[in-house]
Amino acid sequence: MSFKDIIGQEVPKKILLAQIREDRIATGYLFYGPEGVGKTLTAKTFVKAINCEEVKHFEDSCDSCQACKEIDALRNPDFEIIIPEQSIKISQIRALKVRYAYKPTWLKMRVAIIKDADKLTEPASNAFLKILEEPPSRTMFILITSRLAAILPTIKSRCQEIKFRRLKPEEIEKILHKHQVPKQIIHKVSIQANGSITRALKLLSPETEKLQNTATQFLHRSPLERMQIVEELDSLEQKELLLLIQELYADLLRKKLGVSIKNKNIELKKELSIEEILHSITICEQAFYALSRNVQKRFILYKLSKELL
Ligand SMILES: [Zn+2]
Repeated sequence: MSFKDIIGQEVPKKILLAQIREDRIATGYLFYGPEGVGKTLTAKTFVKAINCEEVKHFEDSCDSCQACKEIDALRNPDFEIIIPEQSIKISQIRALKVRYAYKPTWLKMRVAIIKDADKLTEPASNAFLKILEEPPSRTMFILITSRLAAILPTIKSRCQEIKFRRLKPEEIEKILHKHQVPKQIIHKVSIQANGSITRALKLLSPETEKLQNTATQFLHRSPLERMQIVEELDSLEQKELLLLIQELYADLLRKKLGVSIKNKNIELKKELSIEEILHSITICEQAFYALSRNVQKRFILYKLSKELL
């Protein structure tokens, strides 16, 4: 995929294309914004556009030369995407430093995309900072995060920050159309997706439909039953359930304010005030954040089961 095929994110695309055109490419970039809005796709496209062998395509990737194809398939030794599990440790950054000590062999520019860069431990961040301070020539690092606040200020100061926004529903509609999603559900999903294409695609899976029912049931259950429900799910499903529950409360709020809602059949056992609904939304947000960071998981789920109204 080249820049012209990416739907949405006009500002980042414009900035990056201008930098290629004017030969002002930085060593460090920090792509930040919500999850599932196209940060990694844009980063990969940027890498292709820089390294594309077709001279006439100097602004955008051709997608058919050897460099473009190898980058797409992650088969070029000068390009890598680092995807951390729990954290990015100092040993990984030291190994990166060794790999980036020499000029690129196959590409014009050697590039590492580091996903979830907020998972860099502090020692790893400091080691990485040293690489950014004395960058080897023709190398580039693109850090990607949805939690900008968790990135050390020293790292931020060495990177060019590129902000990504939530996609508009009409942009999600266009992407879903490309994925050949049936027309009759595209509109509904594009609104429920809350600006994230990853979330839109997830909403279309049969597992999510099952979770959607679980979310509705969850609100009517006792704290003990709720705890049993969440404990039977894996951590990804727990996070997804939280988003769905949050969406139900958001709908209750919309209903209260007389705005049109997404989930038509939502009823609670008792009428909640606006403050009570907002309180429940806050609990969901806090729980989601804690689960994302793997902090006091059981306690958070207990609090959620007990305190949601
Ligand atoms: Zn190319």
